[in-house]
This record gives sequence, C-alpha cells and structure tokens, in this order.
Amino acid sequence: MEADATLKSAVSPTESATGCHSGRDTLRQAAAAAGKSEVLDRYAADYPLGPHDQPQSMCPAFGSLRVGLRMRRTATILSGSACCVYGLTFTSHFYGARRTVGYVPFNSETLVTGKLFEDLRDAVYKLARPAEYDAIVVTNLCVPTASGVPLRLLPKEINGVRIIGIDVPGFGVPTHAEAKDVLAGAMLNYARLEAEQGPVQAPRSGRAGKPTVTMLGEMFPVDPVSIGRMLEPLGLAAGPVVPTREWRELYAALDGAVVAAIHPFYTASLREFEHAGRPIIGSAPVGCDGTAAWLEALGTTCGIPRDKIDAAKNAVLPAIRGALAQKPIRGRITLSGYEGSELLVARLLIESGADVRYVGTACPRTPWSEADRAWLSAHGVRVQYRASLEQDLAALSEHQPDLVIGTTPVVQAAKQQGLPALYFTNLISARPLMGPAGAGSLAQVVNAALASKGRFEEMRDFFAGVGTGYAAGVWEEVPRDRPEFRQQQLVQIARLRKAEEAIGC
Ligand code: SF4
Repeated sequence: MEADATLKSAVSPTESATGCHSGRDTLRQAAAAAGKSEVLDRYAADYPLGPHDQPQSMCPAFGSLRVGLRMRRTATILSGSACCVYGLTFTSHFYGARRTVGYVPFNSETLVTGKLFEDLRDAVYKLARPAEYDAIVVTNLCVPTASGVPLRLLPKEINGVRIIGIDVPGFGVPTHAEAKDVLAGAMLNYARLEAEQGPVQAPRSGRAGKPTVTMLGEMFPVDPVSIGRMLEPLGLAAGPVVPTREWRELYAALDGAVVAAIHPFYTASLREFEHAGRPIIGSAPVGCDGTAAWLEALGTTCGIPRDKIDAAKNAVLPAIRGALAQKPIRGRITLSGYEGSELLVARLLIESGADVRYVGTACPRTPWSEADRAWLSAHGVRVQYRASLEQDLAALSEHQPDLVIGTTPVVQAAKQQGLPALYFTNLISARPLMGPAGAGSLAQVVNAALASKGRFEEMRDFFAGVGTGYAAGVWEEVPRDRPEFRQQQLVQIARLRKAEEAIGC
C-alpha cells in the first residue's frame, strides 16, 4: 500500500478546493455536523489557538505521521486527499522514514456513501498480521475528518493487533508538534487501559531496578543518556522517552515514578499520566540554572533526601559551568521555531553569554514551560507563544540581531539582509541540549554561524541588483508589475470561498 501507487485515484473538485488555505470554518462546521464535535472541542481545549491558528509551516499531520513511522512493528494508514497524502509521504521519506505509508484513496462517492469507512476497515483487516505488527495507526486528514468518517467504529483490535484511529485535521490541530501529542496520547490511553486490565509486556531492555523518570518530548539520542547520568545520585534511572519507539515502552512510560515534561505541549499525553497517578515536572536540565532547578524539582517531587539532591547537583553543575565558560557565545540573537524546545535553547544561549532578545514558539503557553518563561522574562527576553511569521519577522527588524535562529521563511528573510541564520529544526533541535554535552555542542554551531557574517554579506552583495518580488531574476526586459491581475485573483478566490460555504451548507 505505498502511497505513490495510489496517487492516481480520483479526487473531486470539491475535495481539491478544500484544504489548508481555504474554507477552514466551513470544514469545522461540516466536521461538527458530521459528529466530530467532541474531538474538535477536546482539541480546542488541549491546543488553544493564538494568532498562529492556521499552519504557516508544514501540515500538522506530519507530526503524528512521523511518530507512527518511527515506531517498530507499527503500520500507518492515511485517509485524506491525494495531494495531502503525496506531500506527507514525500516529507516523511525526505526525513528518512524508510517505511511504507499506507493510503486508502477516496472520491466524492465513497466519501458521501460511507464506502470510505468500509474501505478503511477492509484495509485494516488485511494489514492486521500479528507476526509483523503490534499496532496499526489510521489517520483521518482534513476532508475525512470534516466528513465525519467514524474511525472510532473501527475494531479496537484484530488478531491481537491494536487499531488506533485518530483525526488530525489542519483546522483542529494547530501545529505538527501538537499532532505528535494526538498520537502519543491516543497510544498512552490504549496502553493504560490495557495495563489496568491485567499483566502487560515488560520492556525489552529489562527493568532498571530503580524508580524511573519518564521523559516527554523527542530529544537528541545523547540527551536521555546525559539525563540518566544526572539521575544516578538521586537513586533514579532514566525511563522511556515518549513518543516511544515501540509499543511495550508505553507500559514502562506509564510506570515511571515521575514524568518530566521536557517538551511542554503534550497535553493529551500528560492527561494520561495524570490518570495513571504520575506526578509531572516541567522544564529541563539545560545550563546551570535550569539543571539545578530541574534536579531540585525532581528530588522534591520524589521525596528524595536533601543530601542526595545536593550530591546530584554537585556532581554535574561544575562540569556544565566549565563547558559554558570554555565556549562562550557573544552576539545578539533572535530565536523562533515550532518544535517546543525554543525556550530551553534560549536559556542555554543566555547562560553561554548570548544577548537573546526574542523567543517565538508556535506552541501554546502551558504550565510546564512556566518556569522557563519566567526565567527568560527575568533576563529581558520577550517570549511569544503561538508566534506568527509576522511576529518573528518584526522581531528581526526590531532587534537587528547578529544571528537569527528560526523557521525556513525567517531564515530566508535574514539571509536576504546578509544576516547569518540557522534553521532551528535541522541545525539546533538536532543537537544535544542537556548537561555539559549540550552546553558545548550548541556553542560550536552558533559560534561558527556568528563568525560567518562576512560570507553572508558577500552573498548579499553578489546577488545585489537581481531584483526582488515580481522583478526577481536576470531578464532582457524586466517584467512589469500587474496589480490588476492580483486583484482579479483575489476576486476569484473570494468567489471560490463563497462556493465552498454553499457546499458546507
Ligand atoms: S491534511 Fe494537511 S495538507 Fe491536507 S488540507 Fe489538511 S492541513 Fe492541508
């Protein structure tokens, strides 16, 4: 069931007219009328909106797709418009998924008559091979969610293979980060109910023999190891990282003594941990202040004696202090991203000596990033939750930084101005952040970028005079601006919107 093989399926004009950039309210109303009110209300509560209430980056469903594709013995089926599935499949393979993305295509008829649901059920039955899979994840994208395709009616389990149906519409889940939580939360819920009913599989790596700390949020692989070392003096061990890499780790995650919400936006997952009676702490062991506060919170929450908490701090803080002093960062930086670790990175930059003025994150404000927000505010940083691209760009103009760390369009804008810039997702969040390793590693990439200002200025000068906007490029005759064509397009778009509203009715 490779997606590419099924891309030729018919997609009606109605389907192709609905999408990320059109008819969001109509889709919401349609979804509510089709029986999805409950799930949309829950998403609205879990993932409160801000100015950034429509994806300005990738399709949110990429987050949940990636979580499923990274799990062993887990099959993935998408249900959505072919263009959406093409984009999602392309992106997942670009990021090295090396796994099949299943696709059940549809057209207007199968959507309206309910045949799509039957096709999905057939696909799930065909795929439910217990020798190969622990779980199958079926994801409704925008159009099937708006049409009310009832994934909750799929069997919960076939031949011992668990079936997880989730709705991940762009009009209900604001960012791809939160879509990770939609799937992680659904899996934790399933695993928790299983564990409540009787014995479950033990973790593959065996039990630590000590109380464990479950870590929430995707991290660079070295980070859980660094955290594990910091936990030793406390008599604790590092537990699984959620989203997990295989099903049985979910039970171990639920069994942790405490949950560390390293990434603070996993609202649905945290609800499951709360149901399981697990205490939760926010922030993360980044830099000296962050690590000291995190170890303190962890020790206090777990009722660990004062001397052990102090021993844990004494074991790691001098090394972090040393790493920070050895590789200082000098320069003004603005930072924005959509991974959920933006505030942590900013803390580390400031402790390294950087002058950070602005942090924008596409994620919402939650209690679990409150300590980081307060620390950053106390250090003169403006923290913008649910930051829009416009706010990120405004911060760039206002602060004229020496280095911009941001999303693709922010980095592009910085480079056009001859400013050194680094992509947050590829270059910053793919590095260790915790403990002494984090301090050294971040400084390396940031200092290299700060030192490259001359190169960026050369590039800007090299491309000077090639025009911008409609006149960009090398021409024998520079194109003329045609504002009247733009106006015509706007009228056409408005007409299309009206037609969609009528379809929604
Ligand atoms: S599924 Fe994703 S790509 Fe498709 S319309 Fe929705 S938000 Fe856009």
